[in-house]
Amino acid sequence: MKALDELTFDNRFARLGDAFSTHVLPEPLDEPRLVVASNAAMALLDLDPAVAETPVFAELFSGHKLWAEAEPRAMIYSGHQFGGYTPQLGDGRGLLLGEVYNEAGEHWDLHLKGAGMTPYSRMGDGRAVLRSSIREFLASEALHALGIPSSRALCVIGSGTPVWREKQERGAMVLRLAPSHIRFGHFEYFYYTKKPEQQAELAEHVLNLHYPECREQPEPYLAMFREIVERNAEMIAKWQAYGFCHGVMNTDNMSILGITFDFGPFAFLDDFDAHFICNHSDHEGRYSFSNQVPIGQWNLSALAQALTPFISVDALKEALGLYLPLYQAHYLDLMRRRLGLTTAEDDDQQMVERLLKLMQNSGVDYTLFFRRLGDESAALAVARLRDDFVDMAGFDVWAEQYKGRVARDADSSEEQRRERMHAVNPLYILRNYLAQNAITAAESGDYSEVRRLHEVLSRPFEEQAGMEQYAQRPPDWGKHLEISCSS
Ligand code: AMP
Ligand code: MG
Repeated sequence: MKALDELTFDNRFARLGDAFSTHVLPEPLDEPRLVVASNAAMALLDLDPAVAETPVFAELFSGHKLWAEAEPRAMIYSGHQFGGYTPQLGDGRGLLLGEVYNEAGEHWDLHLKGAGMTPYSRMGDGRAVLRSSIREFLASEALHALGIPSSRALCVIGSGTPVWREKQERGAMVLRLAPSHIRFGHFEYFYYTKKPEQQAELAEHVLNLHYPECREQPEPYLAMFREIVERNAEMIAKWQAYGFCHGVMNTDNMSILGITFDFGPFAFLDDFDAHFICNHSDHEGRYSFSNQVPIGQWNLSALAQALTPFISVDALKEALGLYLPLYQAHYLDLMRRRLGLTTAEDDDQQMVERLLKLMQNSGVDYTLFFRRLGDESAALAVARLRDDFVDMAGFDVWAEQYKGRVARDADSSEEQRRERMHAVNPLYILRNYLAQNAITAAESGDYSEVRRLHEVLSRPFEEQAGMEQYAQRPPDWGKHLEISCSS
């Protein structure tokens, strides 16, 4: 366990120099206070969880103090936003403080979001509000607990600094952790500004630091791109299997590591709805729940375009062709597991599709359905769940197919089935209304709810005593909360 002043820095991205990022000091927030910290994220830096309660912790992550070895930098990148190219974006309100390596030898970027203006702030104020910082914190840690690759969050620091959005709010900062903060948009920036040398430097950096095994391949850059395609296919399969809607899949929000990145108006589905749009500024539904799958490929094509100086178009196309089949294989595998199946049959895909259609028509709660399906034997569970469906006759047909399928699956005891299903079907997910309750309390200075919710979500598959209220469908007011991009 380390104290805060014992972190070891090795700022490899900063060393790439001024063509890639700009030195900027964080702009402190007034009256910093700890809102919430993640013990699991603290462990990634070998930090003793107790240090989160010390005043210096809040000072470090609100811009008042800085380690001598930190080198705060605003990164430059561009990207496709809602399908159109924006030539220059960059860290407009976040700073890469430095890279820390832990005792296991892992490097973690420390990124402070809401740290004030940078040369890339454009029209923005460089700030993040408490509401969006809490949402990013809860989502990162909850996704990780579900087994979905994501950036992590160390803490949220609240403040007294006023920040204007639709109304006056308070500024906050979230300390994000990831092995890298490089986005698809980094490659696009150097490609479209026609800076081949810097683009090559960036590609070498990513290859050496994050895809060293690809060095051994005959075409290292192609191997790296393939790996990025594979990781994205797997990540998006997990989003779809667990009902996560990102909301702003612009290429500047896509991580080169294939992890969920840059949280805005994201949501987990309550009722199953393939057409769900969580971002209420997304009028066309470009980033609707089911569109995330083709958009994943669209984004990879945008990255492929930026990699044409290094890889032949034919090879890129071939690698892109891996995306959909890989996605489908991962998705079906996850859905089989969610249904408690251990073997594969040809009709499984169709069985999943039929179930989702029935759920869609009846507005069935996506998370609770799968959890309940594993509570009891298949026959008892479907008999109980039947009442949730408007089209009961339709559900009965599905239930017969499912029971037959379960009977043909590897024989196992009911107890084993339950354990297997509960290990993949969460009881607790970050429903928008739960986040909203925690935010409302935190905005009035009570951080107990956000801390409790974070705790519950850190063990999503485990039934926790006295936490029934976190495993409910949303009340009416919490069903269709409008979450905007203004964060
Ligand atoms: P996002 O929609 O959060 O992914 O942000 C898109 C771009 O806008 C990025 O370059 C951000 O750094 C920038 N940005 C978002 N909010 C702000 C803000 N309040 N101040 C400055 N820049 C911002
Ligand atoms: Mg972003």
